[in-house]
Amino acid sequence: MAQALVLEQRGELRLRDIALPSALGPRDVRIAIHTVGICGSDVHYYVHGAIGPFVVREPMVLGHEAAGTVTEIGSDVTTLNIGDRVCMEPGIPDPDSRPSRLGIYNVDPAVRFWATPPVHGCLTPSVVHPAALTFRLPDHVSFAEGAMVEPFAVGVHATVRAGLRPGDVCLVSGAGPIGIMVALAALAAGAAQVFITDIAQAKLDIAGAYHGITPINVRTTQARSVIDATCGAGWGVDVAFEASGFPGAYDDALSCVRPGGVLVFVGMPAGKVPFDIVAAQAKEIRMETVFRYANVYDRAIGLIASGKVDLMPLVSETFPFAHAVAAFERAAAQQPGDVKLHITLQAPGDRKHGGAF
Ligand SMILES: [Zn+2]
Repeated sequence: MAQALVLEQRGELRLRDIALPSALGPRDVRIAIHTVGICGSDVHYYVHGAIGPFVVREPMVLGHEAAGTVTEIGSDVTTLNIGDRVCMEPGIPDPDSRPSRLGIYNVDPAVRFWATPPVHGCLTPSVVHPAALTFRLPDHVSFAEGAMVEPFAVGVHATVRAGLRPGDVCLVSGAGPIGIMVALAALAAGAAQVFITDIAQAKLDIAGAYHGITPINVRTTQARSVIDATCGAGWGVDVAFEASGFPGAYDDALSCVRPGGVLVFVGMPAGKVPFDIVAAQAKEIRMETVFRYANVYDRAIGLIASGKVDLMPLVSETFPFAHAVAAFERAAAQQPGDVKLHITLQAPGDRKHGGAF
């Protein structure tokens, strides 16, 4: 039995003991969890009990954005050692599946993803995970940053899918956590300027504090007019990332792409969205979709370690594990000034990187 933050059913969270799988396979590592970020999906399961076809039918441990310290390694593991500080890619694909063999393991239908029913998440002091999906953190990268590699990987994957080129001008619609991660990844990938749109000024203020990101409040200002002023009337951005999932944002994002530019779908709308195919054809824009990420964790860690990306301003508050339920209540309240809420389990025996670091 282990203590964990358990979603008993929709709207009911409890910190309690639960039986979790703990067998260590030859290619697995055991990790003492230090920090876990709360994701929009965790909150969605808490508030709604389901995301699309994934329905919480029995108690499930939440959390999938985690960093910690390796405490035990399987007999065949050669890439990691006890004491390594690491972060984990939370989706475990079937390595023999056709998508995995094609390198697109993120779309393997058999993927087992932390805190996606019926798979337990990682808000518990110790987890077992494949070494192949566990990544060492450089000494100067904190556990808090390590716990943000997961959402940042979505941004990095989106820029890879875009085929972003040096000097590109970009638009991100939606200044939620993922929108900001996409904007930061685009800058790190060489974008000259990134516009970001939202209707919540508090979110835009956080995004706009980064050099190179220009916020646009679309409640009062048309994105198109700002982009005309920068890119020339009738032209547009090289790459637009739709990261809001708001049905009304798709036409706007499309209208802001230059002829021959790229539109990347990152946000997930709740239902079908009407889309002007002919307008896209008339500009021959390329369209790409994003589902989580694949093969970018090392790149995401490298960008953080290099100092090209500073994610720490995005940690709004850190809660101790004992207050994990309160942390989720705060997340569910969706205060516009909150980007990332963290829960720390403060792995014992790691004083060097304990506390705020
Ligand atoms: Zn996440």
